[in-house]
Amino acid sequence: MTATHCPYCALQCGITLENSGAQLVLSGRDFETNGGALCRKGFSATKLLEHPQRLQTPLLRQSDGSFAPITWDRALDLIAEKALSIRSESGADAVAMFGSGSLTNEKAYQLGKFARLALGTSRIDYNGRFCMSSAAAGTNKAFGLDRGMPFPLADLDDAAMILMLGSNVADTMPPFVRHLDTVRERGGLIVVDPRRSATAKLSAEGAGWHLQPTPATDLQLLLGLAHVVLAESLADSDYLAARTTGLDALRASVAAWWPERTAAITGVPAEEIRRTARALAHAAREAKNGGHPVYILTGRGIEQHANGTDTVSAAINLALLLGLPGTMAGGYGTITGQGNGQGGREHGQKCDQLPGYRKIADPEHRAHVAKVWGVDPEIIPGPGIPAVQLLNTLGTATGARMLMIHGANPVVSAPDANQIFAALRRLDFLVVADFFLSETAAEADLVLPVLQWAEEEGTMTNLEGRILRRRAAIAPPGQAKSELWIFSELAQRLQAPGTFSPDAAEVFAELKLASAGGISDYSGVNWEQLDQGAKIYWPCPEGSTISTDPAARNGTPRLFLDRFAHQDGKAQLIAVYAPVASPSKKISLVTGRLLEHYQSGTQTRRVDELAATSPDVRLEIHPSTALAHQISDGQLVEVSNQRGTTIARAKLSTDMRLDTVFLPFHFPRTSTANLLTDPSVDPFSAMPEFKHAQVSLNPIKGE
Ligand code: SF4
Repeated sequence: MTATHCPYCALQCGITLENSGAQLVLSGRDFETNGGALCRKGFSATKLLEHPQRLQTPLLRQSDGSFAPITWDRALDLIAEKALSIRSESGADAVAMFGSGSLTNEKAYQLGKFARLALGTSRIDYNGRFCMSSAAAGTNKAFGLDRGMPFPLADLDDAAMILMLGSNVADTMPPFVRHLDTVRERGGLIVVDPRRSATAKLSAEGAGWHLQPTPATDLQLLLGLAHVVLAESLADSDYLAARTTGLDALRASVAAWWPERTAAITGVPAEEIRRTARALAHAAREAKNGGHPVYILTGRGIEQHANGTDTVSAAINLALLLGLPGTMAGGYGTITGQGNGQGGREHGQKCDQLPGYRKIADPEHRAHVAKVWGVDPEIIPGPGIPAVQLLNTLGTATGARMLMIHGANPVVSAPDANQIFAALRRLDFLVVADFFLSETAAEADLVLPVLQWAEEEGTMTNLEGRILRRRAAIAPPGQAKSELWIFSELAQRLQAPGTFSPDAAEVFAELKLASAGGISDYSGVNWEQLDQGAKIYWPCPEGSTISTDPAARNGTPRLFLDRFAHQDGKAQLIAVYAPVASPSKKISLVTGRLLEHYQSGTQTRRVDELAATSPDVRLEIHPSTALAHQISDGQLVEVSNQRGTTIARAKLSTDMRLDTVFLPFHFPRTSTANLLTDPSVDPFSAMPEFKHAQVSLNPIKGE
């Protein structure tokens, strides 16, 4: 029996695998985030392992466009040759790397080290840029530290009230919903989403309520809520004086957002805005008088915008006005999406970052990491460029000529997908490591077959900042190899300085040293005690006492109880401003996930039972809007804008606003919602505008 975790989302549900030799049997394991429950993605995850389309050997593109299997030696030699020749012709930044929030901590760490030391490039970023970057930027500004949930998920179990903005956990991570049972019974679940999602329906069932704003007006709605809290003297003034800075500027920034004006922009009635602000303030006051806690949680729906960081700041401002973060009366959290979305953003895959959340431009930070790596700090390249810029400039005079992608499928998942597709085709050499021939791998010159979740050892860090063990239960198929082995072999061929162990435990030991004294400090985490199921949350400095008692929480399960991470120990209220724009008359597109699928769908579209329920892309549209566009249920529709056209089958639903349609983003290149999404990025996080685009609808007649 092997105790491990689901390969998909950041809930990292506990799974038990029993390998009888003839069969691998999966069951849900009693773990704190899932209580033994799994969603249908988790239950069917063994289908990924035994899938007939698993890549089992390196594949090299032939002159006729087909792929042919080659040996690992040839594949690795070829990568080294190409990297060296392109580097000598065009400089080290002509070779780039793109990582993933699905990689284990050890692989994320080693990928960053490999890029900087073996390739010598600054051109590294990862798909978490498209996921958690606005949340990270917003929480860093406010608290001085970015950990998605600065408290254990189980703290939600006792909540009196939760304001959940832009997250549909009922579909994306169903076992999360057990943590909402009590708050629903108490009538305290308030969901903000332009679509009446499965989670929004849960709130209504439990006597909570659903605010359904005009797409891309979350920031204005949050400013309106803060306005009511301040105008009606509902803020916690003692907390604000003792634990925050920036109140005067914040007060000025929300002054103009009185409810009627906010209602005109957001479409949320003024009385609903007042009701929500008052209910939150009342519940927060009760919580501090011995009642149940109150939380504000955000997800990608409000974060994946070109103003995503400001929107996160506005959500945190509201939580701070209510006196919640850093207390036992509740707090603010952001719900991480990818399986290792948390760990993936800590260990050096980002263009401006070194392990332990260290800054690549900071001389002290560079010196610390260089010492662990055994190199001169001077040889570590400086900051690179974020994902959209890195990808869109590929093959241009300022961009990389060669790219290595590990665990990502940007042809489907990056914004303005036609541009990304064209950029990849401009490359001299594209290497993709994956376990299936994803849409991006299909464009590669060389494809590397890698291990999956149940074939490898390592650690992951879940949405609470808890560090977990991923364990191998079976042998990999064919010649599939771990990225750690690939980096080790390539580092030798490239004569890289430093060492590149292929062993996960050894890499973890080095990662601990590199993170020591940093924000996400793992130096006191013990691999053996993780193996025994110890609950360990970072920061966990060296010398921390670790208990394997199931009731014990080790490290720092709850952050900020004494002080925030800024130098003065206070949280910063960030004054943010929003445009006063009348709602557009055009149709708004919002994008999101379905119950059956995960991210770009590379994995879940290959699982028959998931694909059978959700085989193709559906455009959710209100019946009245459909009628106005002469679209009938089930009809194929061209959804278009200046960036491209996606063809989807109409699904009529009164869950949609009249001015809004919804597309999921899990489907292949020709039908990905990201053909339509906007590559404009947030000035602080470089997050693209994924969640709002204007589109026109054209029914396809006679199909
Ligand atoms: Fe749990 Fe997420 Fe896996 Fe579903 S996909 S079983 S919610 S970890």
